[in-house]
Amino acid sequence: MEDIHTSHPEHGFYQHGRQGDRLQPYISSLHLLLAVEHLRAIDADLDDLTINKLSGNSLFRAEEVRLIYEKAAEIQIFKRATLPHRCHNCGSTDFHYAALRCICGVPIYEAADSMTAIVRIGG
Ligand SMILES: [Zn+2]
Repeated sequence: MEDIHTSHPEHGFYQHGRQGDRLQPYISSLHLLLAVEHLRAIDADLDDLTINKLSGNSLFRAEEVRLIYEKAAEIQIFKRATLPHRCHNCGSTDFHYAALRCICGVPIYEAADSMTAIVRIGG
């Protein structure tokens, strides 16, 4: 899965779910994959409480959460650790390195920068 960083809460594409008048973060593909990878890393089972947490305010239903947990044998998430070659906004390569911004003002090194997930099915 490419461009999974668009699910990051700090990315502009990420939309907060609404609960009453309050904005509430919801579970999207990045969150689900991070959660499943974490459960596997700590040898934790996918119990009902966790299924409810991952399917409550979520893009995924409980059976989809269970399916991903069972089928995803390995989850790797890669994130760009270096600066982009060019600014995605204006195309410039002229960066203000101390501020980590392009000369056009766009941040070039953010928490929600380019991320890719590789999910190996089976096992
Ligand atoms: Zn720019």
